[in-house]
Amino acid sequence: MEDRNIASQLEELRAQGLWRELRPLDEVDGAIVRSGGREWVNFSSNDYLGLAGSSELRAALEDGVSKYGAGSGASRLVCGTHRVHLELEEALADFKGAEAALTFSSGFAVALGTIPALVGSGDTIILDKLCHASLVDAARLSGATIRVFPHNHLDKLERLLNTAKERVLVVTESIFSMDGDAAPLREIVDLKEKHGAWLLVDEAHAVGLLGPQGRGLAAQLGVDQLVDLHLGTLSKAFGLSGGYLAASRQVIDLLVNRARSFIYTTAPPPALAHALCVALKIIRGPQGEALREGALGNMARLRGNLHHAQRKTPEAPAAIMPWLLGDETSAFVASRKLGDAGFLAPCIRYPTVARGAARLRITVGAAHSTGQIDALAQALQTL
Ligand SMILES: *Cc1c(COP(=O)(O)O)cnc(C)c1O
Repeated sequence: MEDRNIASQLEELRAQGLWRELRPLDEVDGAIVRSGGREWVNFSSNDYLGLAGSSELRAALEDGVSKYGAGSGASRLVCGTHRVHLELEEALADFKGAEAALTFSSGFAVALGTIPALVGSGDTIILDKLCHASLVDAARLSGATIRVFPHNHLDKLERLLNTAKERVLVVTESIFSMDGDAAPLREIVDLKEKHGAWLLVDEAHAVGLLGPQGRGLAAQLGVDQLVDLHLGTLSKAFGLSGGYLAASRQVIDLLVNRARSFIYTTAPPPALAHALCVALKIIRGPQGEALREGALGNMARLRGNLHHAQRKTPEAPAAIMPWLLGDETSAFVASRKLGDAGFLAPCIRYPTVARGAARLRITVGAAHSTGQIDALAQALQTL
C-alpha cells in the first residue's frame, strides 16, 4: 500500500524533528541494554524496582506456565477466568485498601474500559492538562463533556467544579509520567469531597515506589480512602504487564458488565496472574522496601549531583527526572549525544509533551549502581 498522503505525513514528521522509530534490543541485563554489539546504561525504563529481569519473577512465570499452561483461551466472561485471576484481584484490592479490584491486559485498557463505563454524555470529566494519553482517549470515548485544568492548578480546578453540573469525574495522575512531579492530592481530595465529584487517580509511576508497602502516593498522604477509583499498571514497578482498577464492589461489578476493553478481549495468561501475585508479595515485603530505598536513593543522588547544573530540574519525589531542552531537534541531538556516551535516555517530543517542551526523560531504578548514576550526571552537564 503506497499513498501520497501518508508519504507527505511522514515527510512532515521528519522535517519537524518528530520522527520516531523502533530500536530492537538484543539483550537487557539489569540496567544494561545491548544492541548490535554495543551497550548502554538504560535510563529510560519504568521497571523501577528491577523486577522485570529478576530471578524471582522469571521463576514465577515459569512456575505459572507449568501450572496453568501458556494462554487463557478466551475472554474473562467466557471461560478465561482462572482462580488465580481472582486471587490476584483480591490481593490487589487488599493492597490498595479497596473493596474490590479488576485486572485488564494493560493500564491503557483500564482507562479505556473504566471511564466510558462510569460517565457519558451529560456528565463532565475534569482532567489535569498533563494526564496520560490513555486517560484523554478514554474521556473522549465516553462522550462526556471534557474540561481541562492547567497542570496542578487548584484554583482553576475549583472554578471548573463550580460550573459543572450533573455527575463530575476528576482525573489526575499522582506522579506525572513525563514531569515526575506530584499532584497535590490532599487538596484535590478536599475539592472533590466539597463538590461531591468522583476522583480517579492514576498511580502508574507511584505504585511500588511510594507509600507504605509501595501502595502509592495517595496512601503516603493518607488520603487513599477518599480516592474513588485507583488506577494502576502492572507493567512498570511490577515488572510484568497488565493494569488494574481498584474501587468499591459496586464499581467493579459495573465494570465486569460494561467495560468493553475488559469484556471483548482475551484474558491475560493465568501464568501472568500467578507471577503478578509473586511480584505483589515482593513489593509489599522487605525486599520491596529495600528496592524502593535503592531506586529513590539513586534519584536523590542524581539530583544531588546536578544541584549546580543551570538547567531546571523540577522536584522529583519519585524516579522520573525531566531534562528540559525545549525544541524538538535539540532534544533529539542531546539524546543522540548521550547515546554516543553510552547512556540510553530517549527524547520525548510532541505529541507526548507540548510543542517546544521537548526533553530527555530520565528514569532511575534500583538496578543502577552509584557509579552509573554519577557518570550520567557528568554526561548531562557536558551536553
Ligand atoms: C504507562 C502508563 C499507563 C499505561 O499503562 P500500561 O500498562 O503501560 O498500558 C497509564 N497511565 C500512565 C500515567 C502511564 O504512565
